[in-house]
Amino acid sequence: MAAISSRQFKTDAKRVARDLRHRGLIQTALRKYETSRDLQKSAFQDWQGARQSAAERKWEAINHLDTHLEAFVAKLEARGAKVHWASTAEQARQIILGILHDKAARSIIKSKAMTAEEIHLNDAMEKAGYSVVESDLGEYIVQLRNEAPYHIVFPAMHLTRGEISALFAEKLGSAPTENPEDLTMIARTVLRDKYITADVGITGANFAVAQTGMISITENEGNARLTAALPKTLITLMGIEKIIPKLSDLALFLPMLATAGAGQALTGYNSMYAGPRQPGECDGPEEYHVVLLDNSRTQLLADPEQRDALHCIRCGACLNVCPIYRNVGGHTYGTTYSGPIGSVITPHLRGLQEWKHLSQASSLCGACTEACPVKIDLHHHLLQNRRNAMTAKPVWWEKLAFHAFGYLAQRPELLRKLIPFGRFGQKLHWLVIGGPLDPARAWTETRDLPTLPRFTFADLWRAKMRAEQMEKTP
Ligand code: SF4
Repeated sequence: MAAISSRQFKTDAKRVARDLRHRGLIQTALRKYETSRDLQKSAFQDWQGARQSAAERKWEAINHLDTHLEAFVAKLEARGAKVHWASTAEQARQIILGILHDKAARSIIKSKAMTAEEIHLNDAMEKAGYSVVESDLGEYIVQLRNEAPYHIVFPAMHLTRGEISALFAEKLGSAPTENPEDLTMIARTVLRDKYITADVGITGANFAVAQTGMISITENEGNARLTAALPKTLITLMGIEKIIPKLSDLALFLPMLATAGAGQALTGYNSMYAGPRQPGECDGPEEYHVVLLDNSRTQLLADPEQRDALHCIRCGACLNVCPIYRNVGGHTYGTTYSGPIGSVITPHLRGLQEWKHLSQASSLCGACTEACPVKIDLHHHLLQNRRNAMTAKPVWWEKLAFHAFGYLAQRPELLRKLIPFGRFGQKLHWLVIGGPLDPARAWTETRDLPTLPRFTFADLWRAKMRAEQMEKTP
């Protein structure tokens, strides 16, 4: 996917933010999420303490990533799994296409994996002639619509039941219904058959336990479990940052991810995968491949300031509280990872200059940082991305404007003398405000431009001091 321009982002954001129906849909969905999330948070003895502990465990994992990855791979290989290292998205695609070719596969069943979205795996597999079906209900719906997921956790959050019903009627020939159970059953009937006939299953991973060489997948539909259990060959594609040090860490991370991500105490299905079917086991794949994806993660690891972005457990909580995400929606970002975390990591993963506009898509309110269960300093990272982009490639007029501001701010007397000119300028501005000749139209279209007050704070202070002095003077 090519980078979307800053102009395109602004155009799309403006259009979506003005779509009141869309906004209403998202706000309603998120209100329900907020209620259950708050309820589940209160089930933790000490949510803030749990956040701190999770941040420390991820810090340990990421700061010793090399040794944890080695331990993880050694355990996994000892049980017969084949581990592949992919430095780039292209390498990961080629590794997976190579496995599919070797297995003479035709049909693939896939469970939800943001890493697969990141490397555009479905496109590559379909172009190579494979039939690919998403097994997660939300992913299946957006796949039928030929769309990218709208949200990290809720891929079809932007759709109503009526729209899903119409989609199923058109693509699957089902009878119209807005009953969620009926809609689920329609998808289930199609998908059950796909699990049985698929040659290869592909999953993502929520956590990878270094201590035991196990992959943890947490989900609500049981689809990842079927994807992993039924096809003869299983491929797991995971980012290298999914590592956690110990098995016991899952006791914290699983409920934390469910709480922050979906407002649940725990998701419905929690499975561990540790290799292909072992002698005496009755199910599981005959062959198990794990593809470890770097794709610029090690570059982010080398950045001491923003390395903690690799702590992300992809819960989506920062998206849910972000006032920008809630108004412009997930597709506007034009990236795999949207919302605050997407705006932080996309410039690292895909180019700072091409994606720097995302760091401006923030009010810097800090709600994302507060919501993040692993305490990633998201809003400061957005500021750092702005600074880095500006330092690497300064924009002349921004540089000039800030120099001028700095110059004046250090010379209050000069600033005071210029204020009357500012007032006069504002009067002229009123003649064109909001029109095509308005130089500040980008601002005034959606916000008020405060009028320069008649008296400055310094004027008022001086007048007050004078009045007090006069009172004291006999
Ligand atoms: S940055 Fe934090 S809140 Fe956002 S998705 Fe990652 S873990 Fe969740």
